[in-house]
Amino acid sequence: MANSSLLSTATRRLQGKVALITGGASGIGECTAKLFSQHGAKLVIADIQDELGHSVVKSIDPSNSTYIHCDVTNEDHIKNAVDTAVSTYGKLDIMFNNAGVIDPPKPRIMDNERTDFDRVLNVNVTGVFLGMKHAARVMVPTRSGNIITTASTASGIGGVGSHAYTTSKHAVVGLTKSLAVELGQFGIRVNCLSPHGLATPLSKGRAELDDEGVENIMNSMANLKGITLKANDIANAALFLASDEARYVSGQNLFLDAIALRQNSKIKQGTNIIEI
Ligand code: NAD
Repeated sequence: MANSSLLSTATRRLQGKVALITGGASGIGECTAKLFSQHGAKLVIADIQDELGHSVVKSIDPSNSTYIHCDVTNEDHIKNAVDTAVSTYGKLDIMFNNAGVIDPPKPRIMDNERTDFDRVLNVNVTGVFLGMKHAARVMVPTRSGNIITTASTASGIGGVGSHAYTTSKHAVVGLTKSLAVELGQFGIRVNCLSPHGLATPLSKGRAELDDEGVENIMNSMANLKGITLKANDIANAALFLASDEARYVSGQNLFLDAIALRQNSKIKQGTNIIEI
């Protein structure tokens, strides 16, 4: 059952590590949970989709992974998830703040609702802040740890997400840089990842498209041709940041967009085709 048996001990890059993944029941988080497990990590998967979360645990390695109901906007839930990692597996090495939401695409600010804006910032920014805070609480005394957050291409440019989403993803880059400065003295690294759009329930649900529909749009926007971005590509980047191979990387925002959007003149501000 244990996926980690697929790789030899020598090639497992997270052997002996303990990781907590928010939004781990679906999409990028689920894929990362599977990859981290294959690389020897023990996992706490935290999400609000309980059935899916339990099935992810079942599909990887139930003896070395745990699901916990955790709404990242609720500080008690986050605290409990972090404490569960420590009480179950003895420590927390990797905090992956990955849970995120999007709001209905309404390009004109006058059509935007405050409730949508608040909800997106609450999950995508306050949820990340709380994850960072409680990860730091248990990592600082051990003088080690690794905090990774999923941002988005919308962390670097405008016009590819809603105002709320773009604001939220820019904000987590600020949090990442700020915290990397504070926690560097303890040997704790803090980074974020910024993927281009890919087919997950988040992007498919909002656009009401299937995998192929989302991927066709994303590929048409991309500078790099012949490759379609998959959740596994983000999981591999998270694995790199989580592993000792990135031991001198901190305070960075790693874009997985093949320079697609930031240099693509075809993307016009306000296009807002699909939120990424
Ligand atoms: P997804 O919907 O498959 O996964 C997101 C997960 O977050 C879900 O399991 C959901 O239940 C969980 N979640 C939502 N609100 C939560 C809350 N309050 N507390 C705990 N969990 C909560 O989508 P995904 O694409 O895998 O998204 C993961 C991250 O990647 C998000 O931060 C998203 O903004 C980011 N991202 C996605 C894309 C894309 O195109 N799919 C591109 C760039 C960045």
